[in-house]
Amino acid sequence: MSRVLIVEDEQHIADGLRFNLEAEGHDAMVAPDGESALRMLLVERQPVDVLILDIMLPGKDGFTVASELRAAGEYVPTLMLTARGSAEDVLRGFEAGADDYLPKPFELSILIARVNGLLRRRRWNEHDPPGSSGTSDTPAPDVYTFAGRTLDFTAMQVHAHDKSHRLTVMECDLLRYLVKNANQPVSRRAILQEVWGLPEGVDTRAIDNFIVRLRRYIEDGPAAPKFLQTVRGVGYRFVPRP
Ligand code: CA
Repeated sequence: MSRVLIVEDEQHIADGLRFNLEAEGHDAMVAPDGESALRMLLVERQPVDVLILDIMLPGKDGFTVASELRAAGEYVPTLMLTARGSAEDVLRGFEAGADDYLPKPFELSILIARVNGLLRRRRWNEHDPPGSSGTSDTPAPDVYTFAGRTLDFTAMQVHAHDKSHRLTVMECDLLRYLVKNANQPVSRRAILQEVWGLPEGVDTRAIDNFIVRLRRYIEDGPAAPKFLQTVRGVGYRFVPRP
């Protein structure tokens, strides 16, 4: 059974979500504000497999909650609930460390599908022994080494310069995609659509912010990237042996 924590102050929405997630066989809990959610996760250390995080909350908003969780080393897969059509919310959510988003109001069936998607990816990343996955959606190897760096997709970590960095689900998926397409230019639009399933209208700067973060992990000098190159007018290219 998976444990889902719903952070939502509107009680009728929270109750509807909990009822439907429980009907799907999940164990669902509700936190009415960000402070309670932070306490449950960081102080009480309650085991949670997926976090559903509304942005509009009394006190700390969803962006702040996501940032504080990441800063404390808590990488629970997070689905953020955004205002409809707000690209700014989506960008800020990804920057704060959200893994997926859903605009309000949403169809319950779509929300359940997204929650199950995050749980499935987490299971692939955490529990599949190397080489055992029967899915066609994991084309990159589980551990990939280049130029003294190691990308560990199982542990969701990057090792470089004698340091380890924990990756979010989205960072992990983006790195897998770049490795799969090594030495080829990939467009920002392809990344938006194929990695994150985002619609075309979303601002492509979301990608750039992720690339900046990944460069900090793997480059010698992030200002003069060798491995994660910018391809002017197109997007990016991952070059393992520049
Ligand atoms: Ca709310």
